[in-house]
Amino acid sequence: MNGPGTLTKKEGASLEAKVTEILSASGGKLLAGDPEGSVSGVCLDSRKVPPGSLFIPLPGDRFDGHDFLDAALRSGAAGALASRTPESLIPGKFYILVPDTRAAMGRLAAWHRSRFDLPVFAVTGSVGKTTTKDMLFSVLSSRFRVHRTEGNFNNDVGVPLTLFGLESFHGAAVVEMGMNHPGEIRALSAMVRPGYAVITNIGDAHIEYLGSRENTLRAKCEVFENIDPRGAAVLNADDPLLRSLRGKLPVPALWCGTAEDADVRMLDISSGADCVRCRVESPWIRGPLEIPAPGRHMIYPAAMAVAAAGLLGLTPLEIRAGIEAFRSGSLRMNLMELSGDRTLLVDCYNANPQSMLAAVEILASAPRGEKIAVLGDMGELGELGPKAHYETGLALGHFGIGRLIAVGPLSRRIRDGADDSGVPRTAWYETKKEALEDLATLPGDSAVLLKASHAMHFEEFADFIVSRF
Ligand code: ATP
Ligand code: MG
Repeated sequence: MNGPGTLTKKEGASLEAKVTEILSASGGKLLAGDPEGSVSGVCLDSRKVPPGSLFIPLPGDRFDGHDFLDAALRSGAAGALASRTPESLIPGKFYILVPDTRAAMGRLAAWHRSRFDLPVFAVTGSVGKTTTKDMLFSVLSSRFRVHRTEGNFNNDVGVPLTLFGLESFHGAAVVEMGMNHPGEIRALSAMVRPGYAVITNIGDAHIEYLGSRENTLRAKCEVFENIDPRGAAVLNADDPLLRSLRGKLPVPALWCGTAEDADVRMLDISSGADCVRCRVESPWIRGPLEIPAPGRHMIYPAAMAVAAAGLLGLTPLEIRAGIEAFRSGSLRMNLMELSGDRTLLVDCYNANPQSMLAAVEILASAPRGEKIAVLGDMGELGELGPKAHYETGLALGHFGIGRLIAVGPLSRRIRDGADDSGVPRTAWYETKKEALEDLATLPGDSAVLLKASHAMHFEEFADFIVSRF
């Protein structure tokens, strides 16, 4: 698995375990060391080793963690899981040999998870997983001490690390599960063993590897193979593919969205500059609701959080307080007021056709000023790429955007679509550098959207613009 879900920042977690437990959970062999010993954490980076932790060397693209095994142990790790027998053994340290350290880490995480009896929500879907995970966290935190995936650590390294952080004081957990290949959600949900499965939607993200939306649906549904039969699903009522699951699920479902038959239904939706207002109808809360993040799509995470809260018996007051407390992550749709009445909308964490459209819609709803879209390439779309970029361009005209600055090889088709849909001013640059002149002369009284896949590193544009205005 690759993409933004890969591990970049988090290096450790707080697992407490005995060597004997690590042995039986990982299925490994004790090569040396005291079986009566214990660890007080897990670490993957030999440069940041909490004393007494278990070092798990992972093979990476550029380095193999095994090359740093000695260093990790000398820096204070109590022992290590390893798939290579080290040349020399350090006395007083334990060594457990496993065929594959990544798989062993997954087994260890599954064992640690099984030590706790708490409601666990697994959040998957094509778009909006992190947003939904964070909204569930915000709402459930009104009642419980909630453990959640940090940032976007949603792959076969991030999910085990998340699980290692589970502690007895947690009253609920929200775990994001990402995937770009079939089988990955099965493996992750076998570790997570969720009580509740939340699927945000089925879109075009990672379609390059999945082939079709139907395949994507099938892959997301792997989560139901490991769900607690006493649990429930929380699903998007407006998603035609998810709707096709009606009557075919092993657990009851709560449907969330705008559809007439939704269990948590959002109506009378209006977009503000930094919030969405709507009316909610549900068995748990009803009446007007203000969601403190921009973009019409925010009704889905909010509705799903209402459903999750309903499943755990939160009060209407707790649910409302939790939604009010929601704050979005750093690169996701942040609104900045700059000098000269310039508003900057930064959303450069990731991009796919659905989230691009959502962002353009937010730009279109800016209360005043010239609307300028600075858009870059969307990755991992495979054959769908050219068409998806072109259609994004068409949407710009449809939403009445005044000016487009498209950046990146694929984004040339955004420019073509924008031209064909009558956007008054368009420009295309192959590289970010070429676009800087345009960004340096952004007019006052304007609303500027920055959005592209993370690989484009549009946060550099954000820094550039913020430093100037
Ligand atoms: P990743 O695959 O990187 O983990 P993700 O599924 O976690 O992505 P988020 O990071 O929550 O997705 O959101 C990605 C982008 O999509 C953000 O720009 C967000 O504003 C937008 N977004 C969130 N939910 C929706 C939705 N339901 N429809 C369209 N866009 C959405
Ligand atoms: Mg995410």
